[in-house]
Amino acid sequence: MIEKPKGTKDVLPQDSYKWHKIEEDIRRLARVYQLQEIRTPCFEHTELFLRGVGDTTDIVNKEMYTFDDRGGRSITLKPEGTASVARCFVEYNLQQNCLPMRTYYITPVFRYERPQAGRLREHHQFGVEVYGSETAEADAEVISIARALFDGLGIHPTLYINSIGCPTCRARYHEALVEYFRGNEGDMCETCKTRLGTNPLRILDCKNDRCGKIAAGAPSILDYLCEDCQIHFDKLKHALEVRGIAYTVNPTIVRGLDYYTRTVFEFVCEKIGAKSTVCGGGRYNHLIESIGGKPCPAVGFGMGLERLLMTLEAVGVTIENRELPTVYIASMGQEDVCAALVQSLRNAGVAALGDIMQRGLKAQMKYADKIGARYTIVVGESEVAEQKVQVKDMREGKQFTLAFDEIVGFMQENA
Ligand code: ATP
Ligand code: MG
Repeated sequence: MIEKPKGTKDVLPQDSYKWHKIEEDIRRLARVYQLQEIRTPCFEHTELFLRGVGDTTDIVNKEMYTFDDRGGRSITLKPEGTASVARCFVEYNLQQNCLPMRTYYITPVFRYERPQAGRLREHHQFGVEVYGSETAEADAEVISIARALFDGLGIHPTLYINSIGCPTCRARYHEALVEYFRGNEGDMCETCKTRLGTNPLRILDCKNDRCGKIAAGAPSILDYLCEDCQIHFDKLKHALEVRGIAYTVNPTIVRGLDYYTRTVFEFVCEKIGAKSTVCGGGRYNHLIESIGGKPCPAVGFGMGLERLLMTLEAVGVTIENRELPTVYIASMGQEDVCAALVQSLRNAGVAALGDIMQRGLKAQMKYADKIGARYTIVVGESEVAEQKVQVKDMREGKQFTLAFDEIVGFMQENA
């Protein structure tokens, strides 16, 4: 038997309604917050991620699905969503349109990781990107979109915010970090030892327990912010408060990608265990330049949809299945009448089902119950003769009579 590749997940027919619900919520929010969708390919030139994500990140160093295509080009399956959006921004000169550009995507993401609960090799992200604004208000607005999605679903992950400054203040902070970590180098993991020379900030994001303990005592970036970055961070806090969004400042949040500047944030749901970050994002003012565009500030986030579903499950939020059939028409020797009735219901936009298995009445009713039909109607000789049917409301356990020509109208109203 051929099984799915390690680290992938199938969405089976009986579960896809959960994905639809989340995707519908996202599209509704996108309309309200005026974000336009962007769709980009599943693969890009490897170069884009080397420049856009950064060659000191785990994603680029260890996790990319990279291969040469038949034309000898180096291709990489998207390991995150932002770089492709930035590429479009530059390639189509979207800067000339009106700024800010407010966009979102839902995309598969591929990372060669060690699979475990909440950590897949193919997962899906809802991402938001706003280009063109430097302000902390833009950051707060982006954060408010994630919060609104969570609120709507009835979950309340904790929002952690931090500022990782600009290249100027980060240079001073790097020095302090290197000095601190040099004193603890013996206890750090091998990867972090190399990070010390390449990107010491990344050590704060290490998943290794020992490194985590050492990182907890490291100097805080917040003590090293330059005046402008400090003001920006204070404004962010204010902008969140004005919007009624609770937050916790957490100076150890640095994010796994190289392109961040100033604001970084994560939404964490402690209830789903170690892999508890549902959404992560921040500001990336230098990304556009790093892939060859004219400098343009940007802010955004990526939200893991599998982790979002895990979180809903963990906190006991069930998603109602709104895709169940409205009515099942059971036939008692009246196949043609039933088929015509089912057809006219469907023509009127009602989710209707009838028998296509040549089953007896009992088996049809069992099936109607199993698939969760709201109403059932049995059509036999006497119903046809009297032009009247008994409608059974499966939810309320009630029964009532409808004339044949009332069925479609009733089902339309009660769909
Ligand atoms: P983590 O710290 O958990 O590795 P990350 O910093 O790599 O996350 P991002 O690159 O910011 O995560 O991706 C945004 C979101 O996508 C994460 O917050 C998480 O919800 C989700 N995500 C990331 N990697 C995976 C994965 N391998 N499987 C499932 N979801 C993931
Ligand atoms: Mg990761």
